[in-house]
Amino acid sequence: MSRVNTVLGPIPAEELGVVAVHEHIGYGMPGSELDTKWWKTPEERYEETVPKLRKFHEYGGGTFVDATGICNGRDIDYYRSLSAKTGVHIVACTGFVGGDTALPFFARATVDYLTRHFVHEITVGIGDTGSRAGVIKVGVSRGGRMTDLDKRIYRAAARAAVTTGVPILTHLAIDVEPAVAIFEEEGLPLHRVLFGHADDGVNAPNTPDTWIAGRGGRIGFDTFGYETELEDPPFWARPRRERLDHFLGFLGKGFLDQALVSADANCSPLGWPGVKGHTVNYLFEDLLPDLRAAGLDEATIKKLLEDNPADFLTIHD
Ligand SMILES: [Zn+2]
Repeated sequence: MSRVNTVLGPIPAEELGVVAVHEHIGYGMPGSELDTKWWKTPEERYEETVPKLRKFHEYGGGTFVDATGICNGRDIDYYRSLSAKTGVHIVACTGFVGGDTALPFFARATVDYLTRHFVHEITVGIGDTGSRAGVIKVGVSRGGRMTDLDKRIYRAAARAAVTTGVPILTHLAIDVEPAVAIFEEEGLPLHRVLFGHADDGVNAPNTPDTWIAGRGGRIGFDTFGYETELEDPPFWARPRRERLDHFLGFLGKGFLDQALVSADANCSPLGWPGVKGHTVNYLFEDLLPDLRAAGLDEATIKKLLEDNPADFLTIHD
């Protein structure tokens, strides 16, 4: 049976439904939880998050993949209660957003230690929650070049992916040659990797999306909604039409099977104010109407939001 790890246990991939493949319940930089300026009560966090997940469910959303790595505010017990109360499947990740968000304990760890840690979180559970990670997060540190630590994390993630059959999701796909080399050296087929943030305003020009896809990798157009049209756009925003044209152009090159979409929104940001007016529900409220207006049929939309993510997330035994 095909299966995917969610925080409430493994489920058949056929039950995922519509998947938001790169999102955050709450993302913050390591240490932000120590700054009283940003403290939120549990009531505030639930109040900000539950209505968004309920709406996601009402729109037909089935599964929310939380791409928040270790050290960035990942909170599995909280995710379990959110999932149980809203009916949205939540997939949690192991791994790190980038080497620069790994605390010193992990930053000093060997590839072997990191591999065992990732495998433990996938096969035994995260902390004492009993919830198993369903995806492995890796990423490129600020500065735009893969650091030695980034490379150790990528190699450990590749080994954990080969051992467990759980896929990898990347933060950024710039400076991608060393990443591809590591995956190939470790024997991980590139279709087990979702190369993310191919579409954001800063990184899109430096992301060789068709080169990666030509080698079998999956491409994440996963910052939909971070638009220059927003009232207070973030620095990685991009004009709505430009992102959409980029995406449609990618599909037009024959890469529909390898395309995944998401909004990378925060339900309740940690340690920063977040981006006003942007939620996971952009997918239903804006992206789907834009795709239909561009002429995509329902089968293509189902492929993007259901079939491709199910294929990606299914554990390969
Ligand atoms: Zn993200």
